[in-house]
Amino acid sequence: SLSDKLQNIFKNLRGKGRLTEADVKTALKEVKLALLEADVSFKVVKQFIKAVQERAIGQDVMNGLNPGQMVIKIVNDELVNLMGSETTEIALRPASEVTVIMMAGLQGAGKTTTTAKLAGKFKSKGRKPLLVACDVYRPAAITQLQINGEKQGVEVFSMGDKQNPVNIAKAAVEHAKSHGFNVVILDTAGRLHVDEAMMEELQNIKEAVHVDQTILVVDAMTGQDAVNVADSFNQKLELDGVILTKLDGDTRGGAALSIKATCGKPILYVGMGEKLSDLEQFYPERMASRILGMGDVMTLIEKAQANIDEDKAREMEQKLKKAQFGFDDYLESMAQVKNMGGISSILSMMPGIGNKAADIEAAVDESKMARIEAIILSMTPKERSNPDLLNPSRKKRIAKGAGVDISEVNKLVKQFEQTRKMMKQFPGMMGGKGAKRGRF
Ligand code: GDP
Ligand code: MG
Repeated sequence: SLSDKLQNIFKNLRGKGRLTEADVKTALKEVKLALLEADVSFKVVKQFIKAVQERAIGQDVMNGLNPGQMVIKIVNDELVNLMGSETTEIALRPASEVTVIMMAGLQGAGKTTTTAKLAGKFKSKGRKPLLVACDVYRPAAITQLQINGEKQGVEVFSMGDKQNPVNIAKAAVEHAKSHGFNVVILDTAGRLHVDEAMMEELQNIKEAVHVDQTILVVDAMTGQDAVNVADSFNQKLELDGVILTKLDGDTRGGAALSIKATCGKPILYVGMGEKLSDLEQFYPERMASRILGMGDVMTLIEKAQANIDEDKAREMEQKLKKAQFGFDDYLESMAQVKNMGGISSILSMMPGIGNKAADIEAAVDESKMARIEAIILSMTPKERSNPDLLNPSRKKRIAKGAGVDISEVNKLVKQFEQTRKMMKQFPGMMGGKGAKRGRF
């Protein structure tokens, strides 16, 4: 992957005490190839390399960095610049008014899923979203939006598949105004390719209901095509921003790097999975460090904080300090790991682990969690809070209760001890307001 390649290039630089101009040039030539292979557009790559080279050669090395690190820093800064430097929020009207958002994009890009994901974001900000089924060409699309809306606890407005999308959008906005909704998200139809009929329909909707925000959803896996699609839509519809989906897949990352530079529109959010919680705000700085393979500690912390109840986290930290961490806490932390998108999702954000996360996950095997749960639930409350009580006869009773072999109970106890040890080494791990970058 791009980040593997860049890491290798930088590894070679790190070993050097002092960098010559030739070193920099050789390294940048490799960076250039890696970016091109990652499907970043040629024009963007050329601009990028030029900018890095100008800064890297003849610049004083900053205090506390060696020359290799300095090049990494410059590459990082320029990656951030390329992606627009700043985080862009979706601009909403005041809560007393209705903001109309139209989702656009090709079929399969992730519009319907992202519509529901966004609804969750707005809901958690205290807004009242209404989702609108404007894709009347595939009956399954309406059902899909309804199912996702229900999961998010958000109302879905639909008029079936017999009405035209412009009328549906109009009726939905009226419905929103008279029922106290303040964010209307229109889930529109896509096609396999950019075509006139699709653009015309979207333009008509946009005019009919005064769309405030036109957001394009593109599939990051399509690489350079995603950038071309963004360009075409922007020319016809004047986009306000882009959401890049499927960044969790085996993407080459090129799309994230070139969209802003090519069509001038910011990336607002990135889709990181199929689950409705897998939508992250786009931070150019974090994306750059992810591309450079340095882990993304800030995102990890944010995720941890969003998912873990702070009081519980503090309580758990206290318990850890006093070594009172028991099996009940273990169960709870397992549930939290699940909420955070699984073990591999957490590990992949930790520096130095990156792509090895999948291997670790395979070893851990989350499907075993249900059995673990059964074992813990077969323990008495006393045993759960004081694992030292677990002698062979108790273990035998527990195994019987959980319907598993005693060896599984032994394995769990061992695993528990290891977890306890590991968690002691990461006191900030469980979040809470005090968790800072430095605590990892
Ligand atoms: P639409 O045709 O544009 O409405 O696309 P859908 O919302 O129906 O999504 C198409 C497929 O992509 C579905 O299977 C989604 O689950 C999947 N999908 C959407 N966003 C993401 C994402 O960020 N990551 C992954 N892995 N899959 C996604
Ligand atoms: Mg759809």
